[in-house]
Amino acid sequence: MLFQIRPPAPKEADLTTVYDAIIVGSGAAGGMASHALTSHGLNVLLLEAGRKLDIESELKSMEWPYDHPRRGDMPRDSHAVTLNEYTVRQPPYAKDTQYKHVYSYVQGWNGSDYSKNIVVDEKDNPYTGTKYAWVRARLLGGKTAIWGRLALRLSDYDFKGKTHDGYGEDWPISYADIAPYYDKVDLYLGVAGHKENLPHLPDSLFQRTTRLNPSEVMLRQSLKKMNRVLTPYRAGVTTDGLKHNKYRSKCYGRGACNRRAGGCDIHAAFDSPTGLIYPAMDTGHLTLRTNSTAYEVTVDPATGKARGVAFVDSVTGKQYEAKGKAVVLAASTLESARLLLLSKSKAYPNGIGNSSGHVGHNFCEHVMGPSILGRVKDLVGKPRTLDDGRPGGFYIPRYRNLEDRQPKFLRGYGFEGGGGTGMVPGRATSTPGFGADFKKTVRDEAGAFVHMGGFGEVLSRYESSVSIDPDVKDRWGIPVLKFNYSFGDNEKQMALDMAATGKEMFEAAGIEVIHSDADILTEGWSIHELGTARMGSDPKTSVLNQFQQSHDVKNLFVVDGSSHVSASCQNPTWTIMALAWRSCDHLADELGKGNL
Ligand SMILES: Cc1cc2nc3c(=O)[nH]c(=O)nc-3n(C[C@H](O)[C@H](O)[C@H](O)COP(=O)(O)OP(=O)(O)OC[C@H]3O[C@@H](n4cnc5c(N)ncnc54)[C@H](O)[C@@H]3O)c2cc1C
Ligand code: SF4
Repeated sequence: MLFQIRPPAPKEADLTTVYDAIIVGSGAAGGMASHALTSHGLNVLLLEAGRKLDIESELKSMEWPYDHPRRGDMPRDSHAVTLNEYTVRQPPYAKDTQYKHVYSYVQGWNGSDYSKNIVVDEKDNPYTGTKYAWVRARLLGGKTAIWGRLALRLSDYDFKGKTHDGYGEDWPISYADIAPYYDKVDLYLGVAGHKENLPHLPDSLFQRTTRLNPSEVMLRQSLKKMNRVLTPYRAGVTTDGLKHNKYRSKCYGRGACNRRAGGCDIHAAFDSPTGLIYPAMDTGHLTLRTNSTAYEVTVDPATGKARGVAFVDSVTGKQYEAKGKAVVLAASTLESARLLLLSKSKAYPNGIGNSSGHVGHNFCEHVMGPSILGRVKDLVGKPRTLDDGRPGGFYIPRYRNLEDRQPKFLRGYGFEGGGGTGMVPGRATSTPGFGADFKKTVRDEAGAFVHMGGFGEVLSRYESSVSIDPDVKDRWGIPVLKFNYSFGDNEKQMALDMAATGKEMFEAAGIEVIHSDADILTEGWSIHELGTARMGSDPKTSVLNQFQQSHDVKNLFVVDGSSHVSASCQNPTWTIMALAWRSCDHLADELGKGNL
C-alpha cells in the first residue's frame, strides 16, 4: 500500500493581518524559509503561484508502462519542445503552435504524462529574447517535485573562486560560515552518500549510501590511478528514515526515481512540501495560500521599506495585497529577479533593491552536453542483476583547475552517470537487428552499459542577463522576462575538455566506447539557473549582503539561487537551502531586535 499521511489542513490567509514575514514561492528555498522562520515562532504567510497537486496519484511512481493507455506518454494535443526547436528557434516557444499545450523538454522524458501537470505550459508562461530551455514548475513544492536529487556541497574553491584564479568575485561567505547549516540540512532532510574527504567536494553527514554496481566499481578503481574519484550518487534521499518527519518514508530502493521525469511518491527523495512545508504548518505558525501569483513587492512610501506583496489569484484573477514586517523572495532565480524588476516605485524607479543596477545580471548556470556511453565486455552475457533499485548511480567530482591550471578554460566540471541493468534494457531501441538474435543481444548486453554526462561551471558575466519585456505578458497580464544570455568561449573550451577526458577515463578503465558526444546542449538545459541578484560586500556591485538581505531595503530578503555569486559545477539545491536557513536565522534575530 502507498505510504501516505494526509497533509495538514490549510489555514485561511488573513489579509488584514501584518504577518511577521511573507514568503513568495514554495520550492527548495521557500520551503526552507518556511521551516526556519516558523521554528523561531514567527507568524508567516507563504504565497505560492501554483496549486497543490495530489502528487502521489500524479506521480504513480510504481505504475508499469503497460498499465497506462499511452505507455506514459502525454496526450497527442500536447508537445514537448525538442532539442532542435530550442536550437534553431527563439522564445516564446509556444508561439504559433498547433498544440493545445506546450511544455519544456523534460516532458520529452519517459512517462511524460506523469509530470504534465507539474511543469508549466509555455502558452501561459512565455518568455522572450535569446534561446533558453527554461524549465519551471508552478505548484506547491516547485521543481523539488521532480528534481534529480543530487545533493552536493560547495567548497572554498567555489566561495573563494576569485582568490583562487582571479576571475569574477568571491562570495561574502566562506565554507566555514555555511558548513554548520549544511550539517543542519543533512540532518533535517537526509542525504545518502559515501565519505571521500575531498577538499573541493566536502562530505555531508551521510545516511546509508547506495551501492555501486560492477561496472561502476571498475571505473572507480581505474580512476584512483588517475587521482580522480568516482563516488556513489550523493542523493537527497533518506535511506535510513527520519524519525522527526511523519510525512516521509525511507527509500525502499524501488528504482522509480529515474523512470519518469523524477519524483518519489513515498517522499524518500526530498521534496519541499513533505520535507519542510507540512512540518512547518504543523507548528501552527505557517499559513499557506496557493494559487497566489505575486507581481510586486509593495513599498511603504514613508519608510522606503517593503510593506508586503501584491498578488493575483491565479484562478479568479482577483488582485490582493498581503502585508508583512519582512518580505522573503524565494520564487526561483529568474522569477525572483523578475519580481524585483517589476517592483518599480517612486523610491525604486529601477526596481526594488536595484540601486546597483545588478538585478537580472551576472546570470550563470551549468553547461551540459558532452557525454559518453561505454560497454564493459566482461559483463556481456552475465546474469541480470537488480542495479536500478537505488536513487542514483555515481558522481565524478571536479578534477580540473584545482592544483593545475588549464590553459584554455577557467573553473571545472563534474560527471553524473550510471551503469548496470535497468527495468528496461538500456539499448533495446538502438540495438540493430530483429528476431531471436536481436533479443539475445539485448538481453546479453542489458547490464553491460555505463554512461555519464558532464556538468560544467558557466562563468558569471555582467552582460549575461534578463530584463522585463514590456510588450509580452503572461496569462495573468504580468510582463515576462527577456533573456540576453549565451555561452562564451570558456564554456565551449571546457566542453571539449569534458568530452576528451570522459573518453580518456573510459579507455583507461578498459570500457569500450560506444558513443561520445562533444556538443553543447542549449542554454538552460541543466535546470540550474543562478545569479541575477548576487550577494556581495559592496552595494555598488551586488544586490544582497551575506545574509541575502537587500543592501537597499533592509526588510527584503532573496533566499534562492539568484543570490549565488558564481555557479560552481556542483548542483545548487543543497546550498540554496543551507543559505536560506542561515539567512532566515539572521532575519528572525534582526526582527527580534527591532532592526527591520
Ligand atoms: C528535472 C530536474 C532535475 C533537477 N536535478 C537537480 C539535482 O539533481 N540537484 C540539484 O541540486 N538541483 C536539481 N534541480 C534543480 C532544483 O530543482 C532547483 O535548484 C530548486 O528546486 C530551486 O529551488 P527554488 O525554491 O529556488 O525554485 P523552485 O523549486 O522552482 O520553486 C520556486 C517556487 O516559486 C513559485 N513561484 C514562482 N514565481 C512566483 C510568483 N510570482 N508568485 C508566487 N510564487 C511563485 C513557483 O511556482 C515554485 O513553486 C533539478 C530540477 C529539475 C526540474
Ligand atoms: S528509489 Fe527510493 S527515492 Fe527513488 S523513487 Fe524509489 S523509493 Fe523513492
